Amino acid sequence: MPEAALLITCEHGGARVPATYARLFAGRTRVLASHRGYDRGALPLARQLARAHGAATVFSTTTRLLVDPNRSLGHPRLFSEITRLLAQDERDALVRRHWLPYRDAVAAQVARLAAPGRRVVHVAVHSFAPVLQGRRRCFEVGLLYDPARAPESCFARAWQGALGDEAPALRVRLNQPYRGTADGLTTALRRSFRPDGYVGIELEVNQRLLTGDARRARNVGDAVVAGLERALACEAANGS
Ligand SMILES: [Zn+2]
Repeated sequence: MPEAALLITCEHGGARVPATYARLFAGRTRVLASHRGYDRGALPLARQLARAHGAATVFSTTTRLLVDPNRSLGHPRLFSEITRLLAQDERDALVRRHWLPYRDAVAAQVARLAAPGRRVVHVAVHSFAPVLQGRRRCFEVGLLYDPARAPESCFARAWQGALGDEAPALRVRLNQPYRGTADGLTTALRRSFRPDGYVGIELEVNQRLLTGDARRARNVGDAVVAGLERALACEAANGS
């Protein structure tokens, strides 16, 4: 495989509420600002990765509490507790106006970048809460992929290895805190694109590292960028 085309996306980049839906979120400032409203620190990291590699990008800055672009239609958490009880036609409108355009934009970028002899590497950038339901997550980075797709396994392991060299203090786990085959955007795209043409990795970074200390966040970003660069080089050398 001579080269890889890189696509960086960020599904939960912001907590923006479109004016049409402002009434639904009155008095919900706290939940919007929490990890449930968006992935804290994910968007700056996604921008840093994209800038460093000159990658194509698709970012969402609309709150996931409206309709979640990382959930499939019919998934119980596609809508949040704030939008779940809306009338069917209002939920359909949310899908039409917000969910579908985002999903279509990402699929269109993958299709545009795909070419014979070239693999698309799609990195979906997310962040996770350090403590969830009382359980502390004792690692810094998760790389989520489908173990049944050899090019993804290979890429995730190469990135994990490179990150270990770049920043030995970062604990990098494969398919944690979630399974790479769970419902999500990369899982959906795998149904449309073959393993030798599409590598979909969800990057999950602990929010503890991305919020508060800006210099630390930048350092983590630098390590992730350098690790990705080495994984891409490895991909070019070893891909088949
Ligand atoms: Zn997320």
